[in-house]
Amino acid sequence: MNNMKNLGKDIKTVLITKEQIEKRVEELGRQITKDYEGKDVVLVGILKGAMPFLCDLMRSIDLPVTLDTMCVSSYGNSTVSSGHVNIKKDLDRDIRGKNVIVVEDIIDTGITMSALVPLLKQRGAASVELAICLNKKERREKEVDVKYVGFDIPDEFIVGYGCDYAEKYRNLPDVCVLDSRVYTKA
Ligand code: 5GP
Repeated sequence: MNNMKNLGKDIKTVLITKEQIEKRVEELGRQITKDYEGKDVVLVGILKGAMPFLCDLMRSIDLPVTLDTMCVSSYGNSTVSSGHVNIKKDLDRDIRGKNVIVVEDIIDTGITMSALVPLLKQRGAASVELAICLNKKERREKEVDVKYVGFDIPDEFIVGYGCDYAEKYRNLPDVCVLDSRVYTKA
């Protein structure tokens, strides 16, 4: 994070570097390419957090995938889950008969994805799997089957690589732990 002198001041630690992310995302892309060869795949990126992961992952998949996005939230400006799911932007295209891979930044309690996956299945998708960059395993409240996991991470509040605090820090290239001074003074 040498080139992020301004944002870097609010960071406690770098958990996963840009280089580690690049390597892992390429591995996931190769795996998806193998698993879905010959199939009709739609990558559904969850806005806004999944944007960097979606951009990197799709370029590591050697298949003619299509893209769509949804905006689903269970967090406001807080660091604690509000426990309900709100669809703010829905898919643009019909997913009937498609193999959907939902691409998401973090899975925490699992509340968001445990609501979204059945919804997409109900709409007639041939299959729905999850590709999640960061997995906070120990925080899970709802059982969710995650097929593609980037990294298992500890129970810390994360920013960077798409993850925000109050809409900021998404543009940090590494996955970082935010200094708690930032949200205690907010
Ligand atoms: P869940 O429903 O699994 O509890 O919540 C998942 C969503 O919560 C993620 O998509 C993400 O937006 C948000 N979230 C969970 N943990 C963190 C975190 O450590 N940092 C940030 N920025 N968002 C988080």
